[in-house]
Amino acid sequence: MIFISATLISVCIDTKNFLKGLHMNVPFLDLKAINQICREQLIQEMTDVLDSGWYIQGERLKRFEDEFSAYTGARYSVGVANGLDALTLTIRAWKELGKLKDYDEVIVPANTYIATLLAITENNLKPVLVEPNEYTYNLSPKNIEFALTDKTRLIMPVHLYGQLADMPAINVIAKRENLLVLEDSAQAHGAQVSGKSAGNWGDASGFSFYPGKNLGALGDAGAITSSDTELVNMIQALRNYGSHEKYKNLVQGVNSRLDEIQAAILSVKLKYLQTQTDARRRVATIYMAGIKNSLIKLPLDTTIDVMSYRSHVWHLFVIRSKEREKLQQHLAASGVQTLIHYPIPPHQQQAYAGADFYNKSFPVTERIHREVLSLPMSPVMTDAEVHHVVEACNSFSVDA
Ligand SMILES: *Cc1c(COP(=O)(O)O)cnc(C)c1O
Repeated sequence: MIFISATLISVCIDTKNFLKGLHMNVPFLDLKAINQICREQLIQEMTDVLDSGWYIQGERLKRFEDEFSAYTGARYSVGVANGLDALTLTIRAWKELGKLKDYDEVIVPANTYIATLLAITENNLKPVLVEPNEYTYNLSPKNIEFALTDKTRLIMPVHLYGQLADMPAINVIAKRENLLVLEDSAQAHGAQVSGKSAGNWGDASGFSFYPGKNLGALGDAGAITSSDTELVNMIQALRNYGSHEKYKNLVQGVNSRLDEIQAAILSVKLKYLQTQTDARRRVATIYMAGIKNSLIKLPLDTTIDVMSYRSHVWHLFVIRSKEREKLQQHLAASGVQTLIHYPIPPHQQQAYAGADFYNKSFPVTERIHREVLSLPMSPVMTDAEVHHVVEACNSFSVDA
């Protein structure tokens, strides 16, 4: 994605549409601007890696793993190639350790990004899709209860859009039923409830550092966090051909390593994460106070299940509207770029045409997928941009 600077675009549009008054283009996410903040440090780190002559499984990976586990509060973190591998290798490790086996059932929210399901099916386990809580978009503890069978072995809560799932309640069920919990924390770096962070609630947690995530590399990267020594040892072997010791292979592993250069970049960017999360919260606060339109439903628009302010790190700011297509067009005409996360739910994806959940009815999930729209959200938005989005939302009407 290439974004020309907002000023440049507004100059072009102003000359073209000068009669329409003030124009501004607000990109959905200006990644280039985010990475410019620490440009000099990134260049220094990349140069150091270049000059070190050591590019894989070195001290920069070790340093980042230590910093990231400390950040989440878990005892360990293991860097891998991407977020999908973080989830897939954790399940694979539990299989190698005899804690999971083929066809075991895994409870997962039906409205998640497809990666969560791919990690399950890649390991030949069975996803059991459950409807989310319609207000938080996260796994509903009540619906978990309905989905339990004697084959259930694992729960995979997804902290969707940056908000922690109801982990206290989920952990109570898991403990009672003797189930494993794997958090999909790909969108929730730093989200907390009761002082405990995403990545430190489940038996293990998978993170993505895809460039657009709240903590993003300059390429693909991911990590697992866990406090389970046995599990972590197995994942460390699996990511490196099944080997701890060179040329000695315990299990049939894969190659899923986090490069030194990406680890060094992530160490730099981790230092900025808290400030950037605060900046995202500021944008969210302005949206929440400013957007007033009966055709638009704001997030957390309910008194049920609203958790603390810190529970949300606003990876995405997702509104809902029954008039979503018209709203998206209206916003685009006002220079506001929006995206849909996600247009097609996993149970309607061609990839799962053979699955037992394919095309089954999930009315809550389907309604969410029909109505959601993600507004621009990033730590580098200017106040003028945020207010422009608010005004564009407020000026939307169906008969306009
Ligand atoms: C991004 C994402 C993933 C996958 O991460 P990658 O690094 O792209 O492989 C998994 N789950 C969720 C919820 C995500 O948003």
